[in-house]
Amino acid sequence: MQRGVMLKSARELERMRIAGKINARALAAAVAVIEPGVSTAEINAAAAIVLKEHNATPAFVGVPGAYPYPAETTISVNDELVHGIPGERRLEDGDIVSIDCGTVHEGFVGDSALTVGVGSIDAEAQKLIDVTRESLFAGIAKMVPGNRTGDVSAAIQQHVEAHGFEVVREYTGHGVGRSMHEDPQVPNYGFEGRGLPLKTGMTIALEPMVLTGSRETHVLKDRWTVASKDGKLTAHFEHTVAVTENGPWILTDRDEDLDDEIYIRYNDYFVGWPREITGSRSSSA
Ligand code: MG
Ligand code: MG
Repeated sequence: MQRGVMLKSARELERMRIAGKINARALAAAVAVIEPGVSTAEINAAAAIVLKEHNATPAFVGVPGAYPYPAETTISVNDELVHGIPGERRLEDGDIVSIDCGTVHEGFVGDSALTVGVGSIDAEAQKLIDVTRESLFAGIAKMVPGNRTGDVSAAIQQHVEAHGFEVVREYTGHGVGRSMHEDPQVPNYGFEGRGLPLKTGMTIALEPMVLTGSRETHVLKDRWTVASKDGKLTAHFEHTVAVTENGPWILTDRDEDLDDEIYIRYNDYFVGWPREITGSRSSSA
């Protein structure tokens, strides 16, 4: 066994699922407030409130980097791929926005991200979102005992490149559990049959980061935000997934205990929050 790969017991996976459900609710709340004119700080605030309500700790606040990461989510717009810092920027019709959120609950981490359109988006942006989401699920399908991490990586890469897009090289999926980053690293590119064998109890955050133009990225002046170097659109989807005898278990999937109607109402609850309140919560978080 590779150093740093922590296998989880069935009991530990159940606890990770709770963190994952809370994370899913936070992301749902964030998505629910997205519309033209909303600021990225307001989107962050919607997610932050959910974490607070569940007595969960944001996994991202304080992550070391150029300076400690300052928010509960990362919100990356259009050419911004990952690690965008929520702030004053207001979304415009036709933008696409990637939201990544991490939750720590009773010592376990859920890590998940998605990209959504703002208002009406063009065909290229929609295709990018669809292909990136599909590539995540292509990778998840390979998360079974006996496969290797390379099988997962290759499935993601092949799906993305078959549609004429590129996967990022500098940032990868990762083991996750008691800490947000454990071994193994799972890149979005690789070769079938290579890498670490997957075993029951492994928990990995798969996260295809996809670029419509060149795969080169650069870090913006805020020293956190990663964007495409050519300024073209990018997208990001992520789930925390467990390898089990019964197949892949998406720990950050939506909460199946909530039916659709309740789930939507849960989300709607946050839409009505006054902007001043969400804004001040965000800046004090
Ligand atoms: Mg993430
Ligand atoms: Mg991650």
